[in-house]
Amino acid sequence: MRNESQTLATSLAKLWPNRLHESNFFKNVLCRLSLHRWSQLDVRELAQGKDVRFCRWCSDVKIDGEIYRQ
Ligand SMILES: [Zn+2]
Repeated sequence: MRNESQTLATSLAKLWPNRLHESNFFKNVLCRLSLHRWSQLDVRELAQGKDVRFCRWCSDVKIDGEIYRQ
């Protein structure tokens, strides 16, 4: 199940616009402390009904409350 979500996270990440322009050193530190800036992504059809969020400051993805690193 986790592998499936990891695969989903990887494929969804490719759909997103480049977010790194919003990033800077301070925000990178926050992300390392797991203080991500989550945004909801409306991809219910692609994500099979899962709750998908992406971080605006790094490439982490949260699916149904679990964080996946890219
Ligand atoms: Zn982040």
